[in-house]
Amino acid sequence: MSVKDDIIKFCSINGLDVIGFSECRIFHELNPYFDKRKKLGLENEFEEKELDKKINPFIYMEDGKTIISIAFPYLYDNDISGKVYFSDYTMGRDYHLVLIEYMKKICTYIQGLGAKAMYFVDSNALPERYIASLCGLGFIGKNNMLITKRYGSYVFLGEIITDLVIEPDESVTQKCGDCEICLSACPTSAIVKGKVGINNNSNICLSYITQKKDIEDLWFEKLGGRLFGCDTCQKVCPYNKKVELSVIKEFKPYEHMKTPELKVLMNIDNKLFKDMYKITSCGWRGKNIIRRNAIINAFIIEKVEITALQKDTSPYIRDYYYRLLKFFKL
Ligand code: SF4
Repeated sequence: MSVKDDIIKFCSINGLDVIGFSECRIFHELNPYFDKRKKLGLENEFEEKELDKKINPFIYMEDGKTIISIAFPYLYDNDISGKVYFSDYTMGRDYHLVLIEYMKKICTYIQGLGAKAMYFVDSNALPERYIASLCGLGFIGKNNMLITKRYGSYVFLGEIITDLVIEPDESVTQKCGDCEICLSACPTSAIVKGKVGINNNSNICLSYITQKKDIEDLWFEKLGGRLFGCDTCQKVCPYNKKVELSVIKEFKPYEHMKTPELKVLMNIDNKLFKDMYKITSCGWRGKNIIRRNAIINAFIIEKVEITALQKDTSPYIRDYYYRLLKFFKL
């Protein structure tokens, strides 16, 4: 067996069956893509501004030879529906922590083979979906998601850079074709025609908006029940219709995430946040982002008693309370 087979087998023993390899190199071909997005003002606040950090893996490992991309399917239960909802990816244990545990194990295994190995889980600016597509895990759809054959786009991605020379996999040639379903389904028209993803405006993507510290008033009504994340472009995608579900037990949705209650969410205190929400994949943005989104939805989806919020101890929450009253002329 080759080293490649050994690594694939080790991942498979750990329940990971979508894994691919590509040469570690500078992605010069992405220069025009990042350039154009910068010129069009399409970068968002979470995006790395320094180009080299986005295209040059050697910044992270000088003598890197191979990048390994691994997909972690997260869709555990696709029968959850409600007027207010958390995005599917947020409902289980915080994926950053889960992926780190798996990736550490795989790196330790590779290091045991006498090689260097360094993992990344949302912790560098390299284009993880592009790398995954080069590694043959799937293709990038018009909605900018990586679409895999078995799990559709319901996957998290992690990468490992190693100094092992491993035969690269072939990238996937399949594409969206003429399909434009997600373009018309997107509530804010963030998905735009053109070379895949190049004109998409992540600054008006509702998933991003629900996570922003400041939401401009014009987006209040667009939230439409979204508590964190969006999912619309994924739900409508034909490639997501008959996907296999995840068996990674850490992603099993918590009950309170499946059936969220606005009254509870609007009033989360520090203890409740720590015990029930910080542990999920939407915990990293903090308590008040979830409270704020619940309050916005209390205005537009479910009429919930909110007057107590005018005396809330958080100026941030009081500010949204008064802005919402003004916006809805109440
Ligand atoms: Fe591509 Fe259609 Fe899926 Fe959008 S909905 S990502 S256009 S296949």
